[in-house]
Order: sequence, then C-alpha cells, then structure tokens
Amino acid sequence: MNKNLFRRYMAQASDFDPFIIDVSHTEGVYVWDKSGKRYFDFISSICVNNVGHRHPAVMAALHEQMEKYLHVMVYGEFIQQPQIDYVARLCSFLPPTLQKAFLVNSGSEAIEGAIKLARLYNKRAEIISFRGSYHGSTMGAMSALGDTPIHDRFSPLLPQTVLYEYNDLGAIEKITDKTCCVIVEPIQAGTGMTVPTVEFLKAIRQRCSEVGALLIYDEIQTGFGRTGKLFAFEHSGAVPDILCIAKSMGGGMPIGAFVASEELMLLLESDHPLKGHASTFGGHPLSCVAALASLNVIVELLPCLAQKEARIRKWLSEIPQVRAVTGKGLFLAAHFSEDFDTNRLVERLMSSGFISFYPLFNHSAMCLTPPLVATDEEIDEAMLLFKNVVQSFI
Ligand code: PMP
Repeated sequence: MNKNLFRRYMAQASDFDPFIIDVSHTEGVYVWDKSGKRYFDFISSICVNNVGHRHPAVMAALHEQMEKYLHVMVYGEFIQQPQIDYVARLCSFLPPTLQKAFLVNSGSEAIEGAIKLARLYNKRAEIISFRGSYHGSTMGAMSALGDTPIHDRFSPLLPQTVLYEYNDLGAIEKITDKTCCVIVEPIQAGTGMTVPTVEFLKAIRQRCSEVGALLIYDEIQTGFGRTGKLFAFEHSGAVPDILCIAKSMGGGMPIGAFVASEELMLLLESDHPLKGHASTFGGHPLSCVAALASLNVIVELLPCLAQKEARIRKWLSEIPQVRAVTGKGLFLAAHFSEDFDTNRLVERLMSSGFISFYPLFNHSAMCLTPPLVATDEEIDEAMLLFKNVVQSFI
C-alpha cells in the first residue's frame, strides 16, 4: 500500500524497486523498517551518517536549539550564533588559506558557489573535471559530471567544461591560463573509491597555482573523518583553494559549505547581495548546531579509524570473490569480477539486513562506508553477514 502511494506521489529518483525500505525509525548504525526488520546501514546513507543515525549529541543540540529559534532570515543578513560557532570550530581544523565559509544546503549548491567564486576570481570560462566524477545534479555541478551520456540528456550545459582521465599525469599540462578552475575529488567515489597518487594531486595543485586557475576539492563524500583524516586533502597535503563540503557535515541534517580564503570570499561582497551568492536556508540554525555536535564527535573518533579500517579489510581478505579493496579509512570499495551481478548482491544483502550499494559508475564493486561510530562488535556482525551472503552467492 505504502509502496503504491510512494510511486503515486513521489517523483522517482530511480527505478530500483528492490532497494525500497519503508523506514520506521533509526538509531546508531541501524535502520528499521515498518515490519520490524533491522538493517545495518553499511553505507551511512551514502556518507551522511558518519556519526550514525540520531547521535545523542546531535539530538541534544537540536532539542536545545529548537527551543530558541528556527529560520530567522536569508543567509548572511542576521547574526546567528550557531553559524559562527560552527564555522569557527570548523576553521580551527583547516589551514590558514581556508578560513571563511559560505553556508548552503547541499553538496550541489556548494559546488555551484565554488564555480561562481572561481569565475569572479579569474573571469575565465574553462572548467576541468575528471571522468567518473560526480559533483551534483544542478546544471553547473552537472556540467562537471564525469559521464558524457548523462550530459547529453540535459545539454546544453555550461560551455567549456572538459573531462580528463582521473589520476593521469597527462591531464596536468591541459590546465592552462585559459582554465578557470579544476574540480576534483581527492578520492573518487563514483568509480569505486579510486585513490589517486599523491603526485597527481600535488601536480594539479602546482599547475593551478602556476596558471592562476583555482583548485576546487569536492570533499562532499570524503570529508569529516570518512577517509581516516578529518579531510582527505590531509593525506596528500595538497590544499585546495576552495573546499566543498556537505553530506555528513550536518550529522543527518541538511547543510553544505564552500570554504576559501578571506581574500577570495571578499569577491562575493558587493553593493547587491545577488551579485555574489545567496541562499535562503543556507546555514539553518538547526543544521549548524547539529553540524557542530557531529564535528566534535568525529574529532574524537579520528584516532581509532585506522584500526576499524584494518578490521574491515581483514574480513574482506577472507572472501575469495573479493578481488581488490580500494579506498582509505571507512571509505572502501570491494571489487568483484566484471560479470558479478552486484544488482542481485545488493538485493540479497538488503534482504539479509545489510544496506550497501555499488558506486555510481562501477557496477562490479560494492561500497563499504559504515558509520564511523560502528563498534568492533557491530563491524564483525555486519561483515560476517556480508561474507556469508557473498560466499553463498551464485
Ligand atoms: N559531490 C559528491 C562527491 C557527491 O557524492 C554528491 C552527492 N552524492 C554531491 C557532490 C552532491 O551533493 P548533494 O546531493 O547534497 O547535492
């Protein structure tokens, strides 16, 4: 019945019927459906619930803020303490060139803002991104999406958007004094947690500085402890000019941001707010208090993430069908043979109470991105389930 209503009223994002769960409630690493069935959320609702579902610290912060105020004004017009408190804490973990944030509602919006900022900076048109990347569904972010058949459905998109091979040093010389910005994920999710070489990321950084192009990092999935560090750029030390964040930022609440230097962000200021960037709900006070609570939890979790990664990798090493494991931290992908039917695997895992999914552009891998709060016992229980389902899979 509910499924019929869902189909009747909700514009659909996909037609993956078997993946539908009729959600009843959630807590920690678990989602329950209305029949009482419990699922381990091993993809953290696609890298959102890094602190698990309804973390007590997030819930307490939300309750407290709810008693004070909700939306009061379009972003940036009134002083809202939750916004300042959050950004100040966030920036305390970021390098000196990333010290000012524009708060938005989503990852796509963060990317849009970053592209606009880059345009204001050097007034150039060319946007470089990489095959296999996903940066969002709005027209600008989509122009940088690394899959041309998808572009074709919606073209014309932004002009002068070009795609190069991810992790290919040959792409570096294509960044020229005509390039406005380069948008890159420091670990590419869509192809199956592809980790580029440090050399590749450093070479892009250096080339962008040489030619005056801005380097935009999409850390919308990789941010907030997901890869074992607070931000994935810390692994290579190549610092972007603009950092885009969202997803797990709000501990389950909608929020995103693009973060840059004071100098760059000044470009948004002018005699009319619409000449820069605007967002009605960007930095909603509820989202900001949730984000602060979530950030504080994640910072405490950072030291134990390497051990959790090792635990998952050990389980995967015991599954003969898993040919390779890529990624870092709890941002992992298990790769199978090309003909492995991951669609059916997702279905079987779901019916066994294990939520996972394949990467957007790689149907022979499975994402393993559990909440960072998952305990050893929870990881063991879930991975035993995963192992049993994969091994019994014909
Ligand atoms: N970039 C990446 C790497 C993402 O994974 C996503 C969302 N899946 C986005 C951008 C877009 O974020 P949103 O859906 O919040 O607009």
